Amino acid sequence: TTGRTPLIAGNWKMVLDHQSGTVLVQKLDWTLKDAKHDFTAVEVAVLPSHTSLRSVQTLIEGDRLDIALGAQDVSAHDSGAYTGEVSGAQLAKLGVRYVAVGHSERRQYHGEDDALVAAKVKAALRHGLVPILCVGEALDVRAEGRHVAHTTAQVLAALEGLEGVQVGGLVVAYEPVWAIGTGEVATPEDAQEVCAAIRGAIAERFGAEAAAAVRVLYGGSVKPASIASIMAQDDVDGALVGGASTDAGDFASIVRYRE
Ligand code: PEP
Repeated sequence: TTGRTPLIAGNWKMVLDHQSGTVLVQKLDWTLKDAKHDFTAVEVAVLPSHTSLRSVQTLIEGDRLDIALGAQDVSAHDSGAYTGEVSGAQLAKLGVRYVAVGHSERRQYHGEDDALVAAKVKAALRHGLVPILCVGEALDVRAEGRHVAHTTAQVLAALEGLEGVQVGGLVVAYEPVWAIGTGEVATPEDAQEVCAAIRGAIAERFGAEAAAAVRVLYGGSVKPASIASIMAQDDVDGALVGGASTDAGDFASIVRYRE
């Protein structure tokens, strides 16, 4: 065993609102409890839209659920005149633990580059949040066989200036862009190749301890049928799940991948 607790995180994207989101969390909780899921053995997180965070947090706190709260993005700034942005301080105050940073949809549609992603990772850390740093190559990069170099370069650029102890506490999600929302899941071997390379690059830059501690997730069209073989890979410590996380039954099945 690696000592790394697997994490299954659901990225709801802009799909659920606060009503459908709280309904889903309740259903997810009782489905998992009914199945006697051990929340300390496989950690569960949901990443609602900012507008749903407060409602989901109220539910999690009020009912003492073992589901962690995450956000989908964070501002690089701590406070001030940044209309439309949400700060790490604001998220932390809502009991948010995880925050996705540099999701490919942010990179693609909102022009987020490595420098901004690195600034957001630092902003999250300043407020005690755990960044889920998202990286991964587009189809053309894979076709040219540059997926490992591309992805490890994204990781190192985003972690620029951090200390090894900080890096050990992070989550990195390898999400090949061609597999996100396409139904095209990477093979377990593809996932392992890049997740191992990410850990290797972290070992080289930040040391063996950071590399042994950092959790590396796979993301991209994960479904109940594909999760077990992906989780069987040595360097895959969990999954970031989009589409399938907006269905309580499917997401619960993914969380229960060992059964
Ligand atoms: C994601 O958006 O992080 C993701 C992996 O989406 P999907 O599971 O829908 O491919």
